[in-house]
Amino acid sequence: MLKHRELAVSGWRKIVHFEDVEAGLNAIIAVHDATLGPGCGGCRIFPYADFDAGLEDVKRLSRGMTFKNALGGIPFGGGKAVIFADPKKDKTDDMIRAFARAVEFMDGLYYTAEDSGVTEHDIEVIQTITKYAAGIGKNGVGGNPSPFTAHGVWRGMQAAARHQFGAASLEGLSVSILGVGAVGMELARLVHEEGGRLVVSDVFEPALEKAKADFGAEIVAPEDAVAADVDIFSPCALGGSINETTIDRLKAKVVAGAANNQLRTPDMDEALRARGVLYAPDYVINAAGVISVGLEILGRWTNEEMTGRIDKIGDTLSEIFQRAERDDRPTGAVADELALEVIARGAKAA
Ligand code: NAD
Repeated sequence: MLKHRELAVSGWRKIVHFEDVEAGLNAIIAVHDATLGPGCGGCRIFPYADFDAGLEDVKRLSRGMTFKNALGGIPFGGGKAVIFADPKKDKTDDMIRAFARAVEFMDGLYYTAEDSGVTEHDIEVIQTITKYAAGIGKNGVGGNPSPFTAHGVWRGMQAAARHQFGAASLEGLSVSILGVGAVGMELARLVHEEGGRLVVSDVFEPALEKAKADFGAEIVAPEDAVAADVDIFSPCALGGSINETTIDRLKAKVVAGAANNQLRTPDMDEALRARGVLYAPDYVINAAGVISVGLEILGRWTNEEMTGRIDKIGDTLSEIFQRAERDDRPTGAVADELALEVIARGAKAA
């Protein structure tokens, strides 16, 4: 039986803890802000050390989605879910069905999709129980968000190169990609096809071999990716790669990648600016995946619409870069400000 308990958390629209012991479900759904529309964001399945660790993660992630969706131009607020489990060992269809009932319980205040640990199969299972789920391709519409995310990061990288180096394209520029997975490998292809030089690093050897064979990429150890002598550093693995220790080793003058939470601490935003490094705020440059999910929910997904939205990521970043330069402020802070402006306009219009 699905049990629920609402948690009163100041600053969040609604956070609910769900448990279904028989189905093995222990989950939290958090909606941070719903000014622009229902909360939309993926569900992460992860073996958190304890309840508080999961709660902190879902709070941080749902808040991030508020900003990402606002600047991504989709009429959704910030939402996210976490399930306390190891997706490789504990996940069952029963658990996923119980989670779907939890999503249904939110009564349209939250739309779910894939995040780490959740597959297209899981979304299909969820959709048998609730309509508040998206992220599976049908008849060439929507589907796996990673290629879209890669295209958005590529457009964002071009915008950053234009602003920082006055470069018309990535031709002749060098890019260090940390993590050549679903997004990083596609990004490597795009950079290579445009005439960029690649340095890649990963913990997964076959991916490195592929990048070397297909794109002539130079391989470096993951800990040296940030220190590669390149124009652009592109974190596409885990979060936190810009931190107190790595920042002094960074040689690139642009940071533009797909990873979420690239700055381990908020002060890195200003630290990058002070060093003359142009940072493309992570939630702006990596938004194409959720934009695709949003268009799918709205029934407005077409190739043309998606391509236009991806190109718009470059425009939004150019606006952020210009405002940051004009006001002598770090780009992350300017992005937050722009997102809050979008939300305030939405509140007024409502
Ligand atoms: P992925 O799991 O397919 O790829 C990640 C790659 O990083 C893998 O090849 C993995 O081996 C490598 N990696 C993991 N740990 C590493 C380490 N310590 N050092 C070096 N390499 C390491 O994931 P993805 O879908 O390509 O996503 C990449 C990043 O972008 C993630 O942070 C994800 O949260 C973020 N992101 C992805 C999407 C999307 O649409 N897939 C959207 C927004 C944000």
